Amino acid sequence: MKNLFQFSRLIMGIVFAALLFSGFSAIATEKKGSKESKKIKVLLVDGQNNHNWAKTSPIMKATLEKSGRFTVDVATAPPRGKDMSKFRPKFKNYDVVLSNYNGQDWPEATQKDFEEYVKAGGGVSIIHAANNSFPKWKAFNEMIGLGGWGGRNEKSGPYIRLRDGKFVEDHSKGRGGSHGRQHPFSVTHHVPDHPILKGLPKKWLHARDELYDRLRGPAKNMKVLATSFAAKSHGGTDEHEPIIMTISYGKGRIFHTPMGHSPHSMLCTGFQFILLRGTEWAAKGKVTFKKIPKNFPTEDKVSLFDPIKGEVPAEKKKKK
Ligand code: ZN
Repeated sequence: MKNLFQFSRLIMGIVFAALLFSGFSAIATEKKGSKESKKIKVLLVDGQNNHNWAKTSPIMKATLEKSGRFTVDVATAPPRGKDMSKFRPKFKNYDVVLSNYNGQDWPEATQKDFEEYVKAGGGVSIIHAANNSFPKWKAFNEMIGLGGWGGRNEKSGPYIRLRDGKFVEDHSKGRGGSHGRQHPFSVTHHVPDHPILKGLPKKWLHARDELYDRLRGPAKNMKVLATSFAAKSHGGTDEHEPIIMTISYGKGRIFHTPMGHSPHSMLCTGFQFILLRGTEWAAKGKVTFKKIPKNFPTEDKVSLFDPIKGEVPAEKKKKK
């Protein structure tokens, strides 16, 4: 009897030790994984665009991942004209969808997935020509607030114009979307306390880019955070054009910037920092990038950085 008692105590001891050990290892595993699992999961969508998506997607991916805050998967759609019916990325597995896509309509099921994802609180980042896509998809146009081309006109919604310090709707007839010649241009902040803009200079010089003007759309639940003046001397509208916007759709948050025409435009450290903050805000509703980078552009000086090579690019020959 005594032996049996000792034996059962031994067994209990082993079981206890095993439980303790497995408990410890579970904690250890969790700790190890927590840094990765805390990262914001981004799905970058590309594959069709009248712009150099094959060059610009890697710049955005490197910008996001090298910040240490994001992991980026890429969903590349089949080329234009190929069978799109199987293109159905799993939006729901991500915190934010970053669109570098301007192409054919997605299959209906994919559109429905996307609408449900955003309604339920999914984040979206819209970059440059991504706002040209899907002119007939009502929900998408509500998400982006403003868009251009693809037959957009007064039926798509108003222009948004800055008048006496306020943004007003202009329902006059006319095309949606145009631009003048590429040039470096100033970005002016109108909501400096917004988490995406906080602490940044109120005016800074963006690297050579295409300045979209005359965008139009439903502009519902949209806040214009920043504008750029499209000077007539560069073929623009002589208007302060929306250049950074936030939109809400259902529970979802959308960050939208028409900046980012070319790889060069995306080497702008201002674009990169706004992309980081905007994408984080769309995913989480807050911004943890508090510290302003030392190389952020100033009011009169462009600042470039190549996030893939991790260096300041050599000055290219100036196009006139
Ligand atoms: Zn462009």
